[in-house]
Order: sequence, then C-alpha cells, then structure tokens
Amino acid sequence: MPDSALQTLVSCMGQPVAGNPTQFMMERCFHAAGLDWRYLTLEVPAENLADAMKGMRSMGFQGGNFTIPHKVAVIEHLDDLSEAARLMGAVNCVNRVGDQLVGENTDGKGFVQSLKELVDPVDKKVVMIGAGGAARAIGVEVGLNQAAEITVVNRTPERGQELVDLLNNDVKVTSRLVVLDGDYQVPEDTDIVINATSIGLGDADARVPLDVETLTSQMIVADVIFNPPQTRLLRDAAAKGCQVLDGLGMLVNQAVIGFKIWTQVDPDPKVMREALEEYLEL
Ligand code: NDP
Repeated sequence: MPDSALQTLVSCMGQPVAGNPTQFMMERCFHAAGLDWRYLTLEVPAENLADAMKGMRSMGFQGGNFTIPHKVAVIEHLDDLSEAARLMGAVNCVNRVGDQLVGENTDGKGFVQSLKELVDPVDKKVVMIGAGGAARAIGVEVGLNQAAEITVVNRTPERGQELVDLLNNDVKVTSRLVVLDGDYQVPEDTDIVINATSIGLGDADARVPLDVETLTSQMIVADVIFNPPQTRLLRDAAAKGCQVLDGLGMLVNQAVIGFKIWTQVDPDPKVMREALEEYLEL
C-alpha cells in the first residue's frame, strides 16, 4: 500500500459536476477502511488535459478516474497500459506505480464481475446492443472471458463494424454486426442479452429497439443503465421470466476494482452498494 499519509485520487470530468456517485462510494469506503484518503471531482476542459496530467504527477496524486471526453485522450499522457485498456483504446482508471502512471479500464471488468454472479460467460452466445464506450469495454472483457460469440447490434454501421473488427481481430472472439433496422429479433439460442446503449438513461419508460416477445426465460438480460436501475427492458425481460441484471452492479464493481488497484485494500462491496443507493436516493 502507498504510505499512510493523505493520498488523493481525482475524477477528471469534462463537464461541471457537483459530485458523482463514484466519489460518494469511494469516500464512504475510505472511511470504512480507516484510510485517510480523498477522492476529488474536478472539471478539466479537454484543452487543459495535458496540464492537468502534469499537475497530477507533480502533486503526487495516487491516481484517478477519467470520463467523457478524456478516456481516449488521456492515453498519450500515460507511461503504460493494461492489456484490456490497450485493446479498448480507452482508459477510465489511472494508477501511479512508483513514478509511472498506468492506465486501466475497469468498466468491462465491473460488468463481467456482476454477470458472473448469475452466469459465467465462457462458451455463451451474447447479443449486445450498442457499440459506444461502454459496449467496447464490455465486449472486450466478455471476449477475454471466452464467450462463444458476440453479436453487436448498432444503429450506426461504421461504429458497430469498428467494434466487431476489434473483437474478431484483436480479442479473437467470433463477432458479427447487425445494423439496427426496426425491432431486433433476438435469436432463440442466445444466452445473454446486453443493452449497452444510453437508451433508458434518466427515462424509465424509454424503449430499447428489441422485440421483447423474442426473449425467453433461458436468457439473462443485462442493462448498463444505472439511473433509473429498473429500466423498461429489465421490467419487460423479468415479465418474460428472464434473469435480469441492472447497471448498479457494474458501477459498484468498477468502483470496487478501482479501490483495490489504488489502495491494495479490498473494500466492502456492501458499503459501496449502500452508498450508491443513498446517493441515487433509491
Ligand atoms: P456512447 O455515447 O459512447 O454510446 C452510446 C451507444 O448508444 C451507441 O452505440 C449509440 O448508437 C447507442 N444509442 C444511443 N441512442 C440510441 C438510440 N436512440 N437508438 C439506438 N441506439 C442508440 O455512450 P457510452 O457507451 O459511454 O455509455 C452508454 C451508457 O452506458 C450510458 O448511459 C452510461 O451512463 C452507461 N454506463 C454505465 C456504466 C455502469 O457502470 N453501469 C459504466 C459506463 C457507462 P450509435 O453508435 O448509432 O450512435
């Protein structure tokens, strides 16, 4: 563990923020673990990222989370990357190891950890709607965890194809693209269905373009949306007898993984989850 003096982590965001759920979870767990650490939420405009990274080094911050629009841009300011972050070409978590800043990506790992509470992705057929940052992180980790195949369903063909190429060529998991055209019909032999789009964020009634009548009770249906966590897709899937997984678990787990990377202490996931639910007023 880094020495016991006050350590600081940062969360670099592109937009003004009063706080964020990860900050709330981290601060609660520092307290619970008796660590005199702080997690600051800082707004860094894109054009100031290089200076912010110099500041992070010179002030000896232990690390930080990076979010939109910094997840790709931060890479050129780092000394090394984990395998997953290199494959994804995106970093959401930075850790200082000696005088080196190392980039990680914990989003996909958080999702897979959550998924494994219900099923191991090994040899499973996966349908994933979306091809943005969250989908990229999940696709890479599900692929590294030896899923049998991943069907990427996306509205914009170019973005979808880019992810499919990454999965086939670099992660070496069989992947194909379906371009969204009306409601997607889920193939009967699908094991896991994931909504990795932003549909449902802030709108419990928003509809993912998927024919819920094609869902069967053998399928596990997961959603990345954590606010509100009971999305329309998950409600519909539960009504069809599917096991469902909300986005809260992914968010909690990426925080658990980040906490361990920085502090080398295992936080209590229950404390994380309670803090998150309190923050979201659930
Ligand atoms: P991006 O903007 O990178 O990607 C958004 C994706 O959603 C794209 O594939 C986009 O398709 C698709 N999409 C958006 N609107 C529609 C629509 N109306 N119809 C069809 N497709 C649509 O976002 P991220 O991947 O970074 O984030 C996605 C969601 O994941 C966010 O809501 C975020 O909050 C959540 N998230 C949750 C986490 C957790 O821990 N639970 C962690 C990280 C993210 P197209 O390519 O065609 O534009």
